[in-house]
Amino acid sequence: MSEIIIPVGSFQGMKSQNKSAILNVVRQHGLISRAEIAKLTKLTPPTVTNLVGELIDTKLVVETDLGESTGGRKPILLSINSTAFHVVGVYAGPKKVKAVAATLDGQVITQVEAKYVDNPTGDQFLKALEEVIRQVIKETNTKKGSILGIGVGMHGLVDSEQGISIFAPHLNLRDIPIKAYLKEQFDLPVEVENDIRAQAIGESWFGLGKDIPNFILFRVGTGVGAGIIIDHQLYRGTSYTAGEIGHTTIDINGPKCSCGNYGCLETLVGGTALARRAQQAIRFGKKSILEEMVHGNLELIDGKILFSAAKQNDQVAMDVLEDTGRYLGIGIANLINTLNPSLIILSGGVFGAADFIMSSLSLTVEKRALAKPAQAVSIVISKLGENAIAIGAFTLLLKKIFTPTGLVDGISETINNKFV
Ligand SMILES: [Zn+2]
Repeated sequence: MSEIIIPVGSFQGMKSQNKSAILNVVRQHGLISRAEIAKLTKLTPPTVTNLVGELIDTKLVVETDLGESTGGRKPILLSINSTAFHVVGVYAGPKKVKAVAATLDGQVITQVEAKYVDNPTGDQFLKALEEVIRQVIKETNTKKGSILGIGVGMHGLVDSEQGISIFAPHLNLRDIPIKAYLKEQFDLPVEVENDIRAQAIGESWFGLGKDIPNFILFRVGTGVGAGIIIDHQLYRGTSYTAGEIGHTTIDINGPKCSCGNYGCLETLVGGTALARRAQQAIRFGKKSILEEMVHGNLELIDGKILFSAAKQNDQVAMDVLEDTGRYLGIGIANLINTLNPSLIILSGGVFGAADFIMSSLSLTVEKRALAKPAQAVSIVISKLGENAIAIGAFTLLLKKIFTPTGLVDGISETINNKFV
């Protein structure tokens, strides 16, 4: 099957854009009549009938008769045939890769995870991605042709237009052609985006950012970064680095960062930073149950051990987490003052210890952000769970399918070629 790329603006292109507009209206409303679609899309009723007919033929849309009758016969309503198709979302993290398959309404149905070999080459990395995708497609056990595409959330610097990982610092790999490789292997549309920015898109469709025009996803993991949504669109910046809040200076005398700078936010709130501060406190003579928990080997202290010590009211652990909340609060106040969002969504393992972090975080934001934007913002913790980035990755595909500007990559044609 070859993909036909329809030029935007051509008659065929217009038709596809209109189809996508209809799909999006159906998706947003759950159940909707043809007449309402015509009203909302401003397309003529015959055009709607015609295009809906095509969408029903492709099995993307189905008819139901659940409409409320107003005396006459029950109106026939349309809905997305969510379970007839699937999308694959991949999180290519610093240490492991995870693939999930989901229905068109974002329900994850299968997932597969694997670790990379030590210090993988570019080829080994691509093979690892290919393997988990093959496995998840196999386990999804669907008819041939039900997979509409693959989205990849890749850590590090990503050129999302070309689908290339420009630099993956934790794997020390450069210029990996993820999109080209996966397209060749699977003959499906592929989208690639930075992991945190992919999650921001996921939050804007399935998470707490749904229908919110201006929000920021703030993620703390091995790295620290933000995905910025402005007017419902992801803001990538001139060279795909917008949102690198982890590399803004918080303490000019702070520790050296992987980026070469000193005192970056990432050096103060990442897992290793927390462990280092706990070790220092103990070496300076503070009493802590952490020592017992790691049998005297302070090098073994990590985020998880720290949280469990804090839960047992260990003062050193609680202090470390409280300081972390303060540093995060400074980073977040900077974002609030710069971008004036209405919502900040926090995500990442450290917020499992939210009870010990949030009060100092909120207090710092209150103190350091300007009053007006601080009053306008809510700060919440993501509910997308452990698959958040993979969910964001397949949302890249769903966006292409369901939004009128997203059709140039051949997805609607993929559907059409399979069913028409
Ligand atoms: Zn840095």
